[in-house]
Amino acid sequence: MTTIAVKDAWKAGTQITEADYEAWYARSVSDPDGFWREHGARLDWIKPYTMVKNTSFEPGAVSIRWFEDGTLNLSANCLDRHLETRGDQTAIIWEGDDPKDARHITYRELHADVCRMANVLKGMGVEKGDRVSIYLPMIPEAAVTMLACARLGAIHSVVFGGFSPDALGGRMEDSSSKVLVTADEGLRAGRKVPLKANADKALGIAAKAGHTVEKVLVVRRTGAEVAMEGGRDLWWHEERDKVSADCPPAEMSAEDPLFILYTSGSTGKPKGVLHTTGGYLVWASMTHQYVFDYRPGEVFWCTADVGWVTGHSYTVYGPLANGATTLMFEGVPNYPDAGRMWQVVDKHQVNIFYTAPTAIRALMGAGDEFVTRSSRRSIRLLGSVGEPINPEAWNWYYTVVGEERCAIVDTWWQTETGGILISPLPGAVALKPGSATKPFFGVRPELVDAEGKVLEGAADGNLCIADSWPGQMRTVYGDHERFEQTYFSTYPGKYFTGDGARRDADGYWWITGRVDDVINVSGHRMGTAEVESALVSHPKVSEAAVVGYPHDVKGQGIYCYVTLMEGVTPSDELKKELVAHVRNEIGPIASPDKIQWAPGLPKTRSGKIMRRILRKIAEDEFGALGDTSTLADPGVVDDLIENRENRK
Ligand code: ATP
Ligand code: MG
Repeated sequence: MTTIAVKDAWKAGTQITEADYEAWYARSVSDPDGFWREHGARLDWIKPYTMVKNTSFEPGAVSIRWFEDGTLNLSANCLDRHLETRGDQTAIIWEGDDPKDARHITYRELHADVCRMANVLKGMGVEKGDRVSIYLPMIPEAAVTMLACARLGAIHSVVFGGFSPDALGGRMEDSSSKVLVTADEGLRAGRKVPLKANADKALGIAAKAGHTVEKVLVVRRTGAEVAMEGGRDLWWHEERDKVSADCPPAEMSAEDPLFILYTSGSTGKPKGVLHTTGGYLVWASMTHQYVFDYRPGEVFWCTADVGWVTGHSYTVYGPLANGATTLMFEGVPNYPDAGRMWQVVDKHQVNIFYTAPTAIRALMGAGDEFVTRSSRRSIRLLGSVGEPINPEAWNWYYTVVGEERCAIVDTWWQTETGGILISPLPGAVALKPGSATKPFFGVRPELVDAEGKVLEGAADGNLCIADSWPGQMRTVYGDHERFEQTYFSTYPGKYFTGDGARRDADGYWWITGRVDDVINVSGHRMGTAEVESALVSHPKVSEAAVVGYPHDVKGQGIYCYVTLMEGVTPSDELKKELVAHVRNEIGPIASPDKIQWAPGLPKTRSGKIMRRILRKIAEDEFGALGDTSTLADPGVVDDLIENRENRK
């Protein structure tokens, strides 16, 4: 296994050295109170905190509070405090779906718009603690609305603009939102998305379930004709002109809720994750600064939609709290063609680029020439999040995209964690392709076996976190019992992530995938990620998903769904070649039992493979696929069912 030494990982110097990392980390876990007392001060507090950590993972009494007697306003931290020093600096670069559309918004302009939005929402009856649902495309108004809610102390719930009316309706009902902010239409890959029409259906669904959303604010994006209901629906561009650009930020307690966000739904019904104000922003801003080695004046591009937590923490809150220039992209990676990302990088001189393995694998499949025709000289750091990144994709990202100049930060975290928990700090930690490397300050990862026994040294097990960190979720909205049940009951006294991991002899962490995705073949446990990586390392394979299915002899058999590279013809010969390839890469124990060609894989809207659906198809039990509301393209599933290998 190659290791990329610290000095090569970071040629340009860094804020944190290897020695700093060790010292800071040691202090952060031996004296969390002292460490966070110091680092919490990176924010502007209205009333400074005297209390720092007050947390308990005890069964039946789980409670997480940080900086609890301090008060602050999050939007003031992201906007007002920058006006004097960088009011005329670009806060948001917006790149439209159409390569001809772009906008630069300064901190001063953003501040004024957020104040106006806050005043409009106030006029619609929004008060401290009220819930506001946001169903918008990736346009600046999405960030404006989030920040406006924070300014008033309202709780936002962003619902991805690609979701169906059912998904939006359910979330508005679950969070009992008072107001919805949406747009006439969205634009993705040149196609129009009927957001307002969907929203109208969703409002009806919520009403049927017993919850009436009082008001709807509509942002004009495409100018399409949409139905507006008198007394309920208002246009943002009309209301905006009627209100003042001044709105004093509300004084919020550190533990006042900031937002609700539903998880991706990869494993089941999405959970309404609740984050609060102070600890969350300390975490988002601090991880943004150190994990990405962010330096003043740089352009930071996180490709995640604001509908995901990555968009919350690293498109909006972390970068703006740090006074960065953040890029918001409305479009998709392969429109007008697979070179779009790199064209945008060159156009806006992006310095730090952060995306997901699903995008990396898709672009890798489209061919190198889409990358190499761009310059990319402005990039100095690359990041990955969302799924384990296979070494094959890691190497492509490192050599082809980054030309071996840029470190890659493989950042492991979850909606629940608020921000990054395990990741290299460039320049402080040597890299190993495929490993998320070391914990961030204050994070105490632990490996436990199925009985909850803590494993020491090099080991493979279930990933838990032993103690709280400031960015941790506080509860499942409206259901604290589900919070305790989901995260603290499996291994009492610890936060259980649901992921499996391996710690190697150097103390490096390797995320092996979700614990549910482990397969047991003739008594040998293996992560599906391992078999997938072996398949993807074959030159003809672009993507693969592996699941177990009941097997008479082995207990579980290995079922592989394989997507081939553009232009490769599927054949039985190729299946044999792939079986031989996996045997060669991992060993005979990992030999695929079934291979099914998959033109597409079922993914969540955030690009994660939904293996639970693939398991059902492999088991020939596709009648009960469970919650599919977050599926990106339901059509993919029909094709897979049609061509399944295991027919009873
Ligand atoms: P749900 O909890 O509803 O099933 P989800 O877990 O997909 O949905 P997210 O919070 O968006 O929802 O995703 C977090 C998960 O993504 C992690 O638990 C992990 O499985 C995976 N993940 C994120 N980053 C990485 C990474 N760098 N390496 C490996 N896995 C990652
Ligand atoms: Mg999860």
